[in-house]
Amino acid sequence: MATTPAETAKTLEYLTTSLKAPRIREAAARIADTARTNHWSYEEYLAAVLEREVAARNASGARLRITAAGFPAIKTAEDFDFSTQTAITHTDYAAMASGRYLAEAGNIVLLGPPGTGKTHLATALGITACHQGHRVLYATAVDWIHRLKNAHDTGRLDAELRKLGRYRLIIIDEVGYLPFEQEAANLFFQLISTRYEKASLILTSNLPFARWGEVFGDVTIAAAMIDRIVHHAEVHTLKGASYRLKTLGTDSLPSTTHQTN
Ligand code: ADP
Ligand code: MG
Repeated sequence: MATTPAETAKTLEYLTTSLKAPRIREAAARIADTARTNHWSYEEYLAAVLEREVAARNASGARLRITAAGFPAIKTAEDFDFSTQTAITHTDYAAMASGRYLAEAGNIVLLGPPGTGKTHLATALGITACHQGHRVLYATAVDWIHRLKNAHDTGRLDAELRKLGRYRLIIIDEVGYLPFEQEAANLFFQLISTRYEKASLILTSNLPFARWGEVFGDVTIAAAMIDRIVHHAEVHTLKGASYRLKTLGTDSLPSTTHQTN
């Protein structure tokens, strides 16, 4: 092809615009310089250019999925101090973050007192799942109930459950802070049972399973639910003092003893 460099640049601009691949337009000339300097083959050059575009597309897809998931804050494993939370090792975490549970439609349950890192780790796993290309939705148990009740009251419960089925991971945070009414417990049970062996859940709770009967107001519903959740689940019970209070320092805690001075 007897074209001048300027003509080629124009053609590339036209082609990358119609492909909606602006990163190729930006990178093509620069990578070509590197390719010439390093004597890359044509195939190596093509791979390097396409790689740039694919990496950028994946990153922007992950960004969109992270925003859509509705996490309360952005938390990652890098800012989690595993030395203060000995109930879970970095190796345990890394095995979960590999995403095998997602492929197997398994669940993860994080139990433990307030401030022990349940929401942090659930969010970190959720963000990792977004990076792995999965759709994720986060909400507290109370918010899930609102959402399901709303769908139920407007005759859309089945449609809503089907829609939620398209999310590979649903995070249900804070099971147990507020008790559910009978109707809410039934809705919650439907959410759990429609996902059973189909798609994953991460649940967190400040209460051990033995006390879930109190949350759902019915030991039979609680037992049926726990059965489905733990059948293919990894359960970790986090321990220790609240990280929130630890970072405040005990001096600033309200005193429970009577002060005499
Ligand atoms: P929980 O959900 O168990 O009540 P959170 O995950 O919300 O606790 O943790 C409370 C706060 O402390 C959050 O800001 C969280 O990022 C932080 N935090 C908890 N545990 C750790 C830890 N081991 N390393 C770093 N930050 C932590
Ligand atoms: Mg929490």
